[in-house]
Amino acid sequence: MRVFANPVGAGSLWFDNLATAEGTPVAYDPQARAFLPMPPFCANRNRIGCNWIAPQEGAFCRSCAMTALAPDPSIPNAIPNWAQTEAAKRWVLDNLGHWHWFRPEDPGARPVFHMLAEGPTPVLMGHAEGVVTISVAEVDPVLLTTRREALQEPYRTMIGHMRHEIAHMLWWRLSLREDFLDAFRATFGDERIDYSAALRYHYENGPPTEWTQYYLTSYASAHPHEDLAETVAHLLHLTDIADSLVATGLSAPQIPQPGWNPYSEPDAERLIHTAVALTVSINQINRSMGLSDLYPFVLSNHARHKMVFVHNWLRRGAQGL
Ligand SMILES: [Zn+2]
Ligand SMILES: [Zn+2]
Repeated sequence: MRVFANPVGAGSLWFDNLATAEGTPVAYDPQARAFLPMPPFCANRNRIGCNWIAPQEGAFCRSCAMTALAPDPSIPNAIPNWAQTEAAKRWVLDNLGHWHWFRPEDPGARPVFHMLAEGPTPVLMGHAEGVVTISVAEVDPVLLTTRREALQEPYRTMIGHMRHEIAHMLWWRLSLREDFLDAFRATFGDERIDYSAALRYHYENGPPTEWTQYYLTSYASAHPHEDLAETVAHLLHLTDIADSLVATGLSAPQIPQPGWNPYSEPDAERLIHTAVALTVSINQINRSMGLSDLYPFVLSNHARHKMVFVHNWLRRGAQGL
C-alpha cells in the first residue's frame, strides 16, 4: 500500500485516514489513488468510517456499493465489526485495482458482498457465482485466534479472508474465458471433482503427507478451487508487503531499483523472489518485539510455479488481454 500526500498541508496520509493531522476532513479517491479535501463523501462515512469519495452526494463509494447485505445491527458489535471488515475490503480492492480489477476500465462483473454478523450459528464464508459472503465477527481478535488455533492455521486475518474469498470470484471471472480453464486445470488440477466430498475428506483425513512440497497451506490441498484462492491470496500478500515497504521509503539490497513498483513488475519470479527475501527480514524485525512472523510461510517450487501462473492472469485478466 502506498503512502499518500496530504492535499491541504504537509505530511503524509495513510490509506484509512478520514482527516489530516490538523483535523481537515479528507477522502480517498480510488480512481486517482490520492486524497482530496472535498466531498462528495461516501454515504457510509459517518456510519462505518468509510473514507472513500462517492460519485455524488448521498451515494455510496465504489467499495460500499458492492455490499448488498449489511449485518443485522441488533447483533452485538455488528456495526463496529462491519466497519473494520469494510476497511479490509477497501484495502484489498485497492490492491487489485493496480491490476485494473473492478475499476471503471474493467468491463466485467463486480463482486457482490454479503456482510453477515454471527448470532449463535457461525457464518460460513465463501463465494458462489459472484457473491462473496463474509463473517464480520472474524475481526474480533479472540474469535479469530480461537478459530486459527482450532484449524491449526499459521495466519488468519480479515485482509487474508478478503483476499481468499475475492480470489474465488476472480477465478469465476476468468473461467468465463475460453483460454483460461485448460491452462488452470493443467496447473491446479480439475476443479470439477466433487467439492463437498473433497472438503469432507480433507477435514476427516487431513492433508496429504507431503503437502508442503505442493501447496502453500494445508487447506489449499483440499480442492483446486482452494488451492487457487490460497495462491492468489499469497500473491497479494507478498506483492502488498513489498509495495508497503517501498512506499515507506525503506530500502533493502533485495529491491531491484529505486522507485520499484511491485504491482507493475512484469517478471513474477523476480517479484516473488524479492518479496520473499523482504519477508525474511521483516520476520526478524517482528521477533524483536516478540510478535509472530509477518509472513510465516515457506514457498515450495510448486507453490511458486502456481503463483507465477496466477500473476500472469491477474495482471491482464481484468482487461480481457
Ligand atoms: Zn464507502
Ligand atoms: Zn475458499
